[in-house]
Amino acid sequence: MLPAILPLGFGMKLHHQIFLAMLLGGLAGAVTSEGSQLFGVPVLPGYDLIGTLFINALKMVVIPLITTAIMSGLMNVGEGRNLGRMGMKTVLFYMGTSLMAILIGLLVVNLIAPGIIDGQPARDLLGLSADTQDTLQSIEGRGAGDFTQILVQMLPPNLFQAAAQGQMLGLIVFSLMFGYFLRTLGGEPGAALRNTIEGIYQVTLSITMLIIRFAPLGVFGLIAATVSRTGLDALEPLALFFITVLLALGLHMFGTMMLLIRVLGRRSPLRHLQAMTPALLTAFSSSSSAATLPLTMECVQKRSGVSKRTSSFVLPLGATVNMDGTALYECVAALFIAQAYGLDLSLTTQFIIVLTALITSIGVAAIPAASLVAITVILGVIGLPAEAIGLILVTDRVLDMCRTAANVWGDSVCAVLLARSEGEEDVLRQPMRELDLEQG
Ligand code: ASP
Repeated sequence: MLPAILPLGFGMKLHHQIFLAMLLGGLAGAVTSEGSQLFGVPVLPGYDLIGTLFINALKMVVIPLITTAIMSGLMNVGEGRNLGRMGMKTVLFYMGTSLMAILIGLLVVNLIAPGIIDGQPARDLLGLSADTQDTLQSIEGRGAGDFTQILVQMLPPNLFQAAAQGQMLGLIVFSLMFGYFLRTLGGEPGAALRNTIEGIYQVTLSITMLIIRFAPLGVFGLIAATVSRTGLDALEPLALFFITVLLALGLHMFGTMMLLIRVLGRRSPLRHLQAMTPALLTAFSSSSSAATLPLTMECVQKRSGVSKRTSSFVLPLGATVNMDGTALYECVAALFIAQAYGLDLSLTTQFIIVLTALITSIGVAAIPAASLVAITVILGVIGLPAEAIGLILVTDRVLDMCRTAANVWGDSVCAVLLARSEGEEDVLRQPMRELDLEQG
């Protein structure tokens, strides 16, 4: 047992610590700017360092944790028929909830019409950001744009290269196959290998728990760096767009998804929200659902009571392919830009946007700012120049934080629903355990 001494806020619950760290980070960021110094030492690189160390540590465990979690989850999954059924249900939940998210986005953006101000397209009012070209270059390679590329990623020719490039989809497919056949491997080699993989999983989990103890510090650094760089003034001209995205994300997260937990899962959505708080706050601060994955797994298993078998199947896949927040954002952003450019939006165009948002959200990488690539793809499809993305760059960071939280929330809700549909009774029933007091 690690000593229960926490980096911040002795004795406070982890999610309270993270929350406090976010507030302190916001405050620290607000009083510093790019060049600020404390006793002659620049402050911003200090925030960056703390944030980077935390994210690096999480990313460090992602590959061993996820591959062994999938394999060990699958080794115990039972008959092959179960597996097919679970796979089908997972895909259905994922596609269904992403589609709901997009449709909510579509509705809200049409109702509010943030791209039209006083009956005129807002293009000139908003003005294009000067550094659009740089951004277009910097976001290259952040995600698979089209469907064939997603298929190709599923079967990487070199597993290690895929791992090094953070392409999780190929690793997931390989781990699924490995775990599947490991189930059937008999005799001494089978038992030995299963034990080894279970052992690696347990050890990586202990390391993850150690890293999670530092979440408050990491979150402080991430938020402080973001706030001191972006500030909040920059958001003003895009306030309506900002509100539209937040409203739509809120409706999806706290409306649709909570309703699904209540109706399909027959459990308390608020209880699940409470259980997921540490992961949601980390997703919000880091803007990366891939980096948050270790925390998501812990919260869903230990605090929401979903079995390891279900969560290790659903969550890694979800972090990679299921992005409700991203899909919704892509749709709202593309329509906002189209409105601002005064493009005539026929029903067919809107249908195309919905479809492209659904497909590209699968391919978007689970890292900061990855949606921007997908949005350029959508803009191309509806005939707008990629440069138009300049309109939304200023708000991207903050909205990225929100949509990443929605992405993680969506995965966790699907895990709960799948567990319930598989007859798991313990889900959201056990007393909530604290993450920070236990290991593995
Ligand atoms: N940052 C998001 C995530 O990691 C992806 C995106 O929408 O840019 O889930």
